[in-house]
Amino acid sequence: LLIGMALVFFVLALWFSRLMSRKAMIPIAKAYTKQREFVADASHELRTPLSVLLASIEALQLEETIESDPFSKKVLLGMEAEVHAITKMAGELLQLARSDSNELVLDRSLFNLSAAAAGVIEKLRPFAQAKGIVLHLHAPDELNVQWDEERATQLLVLLLDNAVKYSSDPGGVHVTLTDDREHGTRIFTIEVKDSGIGIAAEALPRIFDRFYRQDSSRTRRTGGHGLGLAIAKNIVDAGGGTIQVESAVGEGSTFRVRIPW
Ligand code: ADP
Repeated sequence: LLIGMALVFFVLALWFSRLMSRKAMIPIAKAYTKQREFVADASHELRTPLSVLLASIEALQLEETIESDPFSKKVLLGMEAEVHAITKMAGELLQLARSDSNELVLDRSLFNLSAAAAGVIEKLRPFAQAKGIVLHLHAPDELNVQWDEERATQLLVLLLDNAVKYSSDPGGVHVTLTDDREHGTRIFTIEVKDSGIGIAAEALPRIFDRFYRQDSSRTRRTGGHGLGLAIAKNIVDAGGGTIQVESAVGEGSTFRVRIPW
């Protein structure tokens, strides 16, 4: 009888625990969807007031009384930089919320990846030059791929921007593009190598997490929000690719993206 009762009790306990966990699952999933919708809506709605604010700051900067007052000019420049930073962050949050709900759909067309990378390098050259860093591109003249040009460009910007941000060495930043074939599938590879501050071994598994920033005292000056690599990983995941990093503190980092197309 005792064994029978224990068995019944065990089955009941199992049934009850499964019921409870199922009950708990539904609100969590719903809460998560609600939270994602909230982030998407909030970041979307923020964009209009922010652009109004930016337009007002720009209008003020043209005022004669402000132009002749160094203090007001400095304050307005600071405000402009902050508005740009919030606008960038709102855009990044919106993109992440969209990719969470599988709205990140790739828009594939044939384009020259080498030309896209050359364009990104041209755009970032002044930023790199200001830090004494030379940008190098190692790629064939034409590397035509059937993929999403806008997303590929965004990946290049995110990786290259970090490589410059976290370097101070004139050793340079090297971007290498290759076209591979694996089991009949064509794969393009983007490698971005810097000889900058590097990433500590314990930080490596976390750098693709949202809002994660390594050693904030050292990186705070660079003004990021820890969303760039989370976005990069989302784009790569949407394309069924991989993103890997090799790094050593004080020696530099190499980010490698492989995407089948
Ligand atoms: P952000 O650069 O805005 O902080 P990211 O998501 O792009 O955010 O990067 C997360 C963190 O990973 C950075 O704060 C930095 O600590 C580290 N990191 C990324 N790229 C590099 C790099 N090339 N060299 C050194 N550290 C890097």
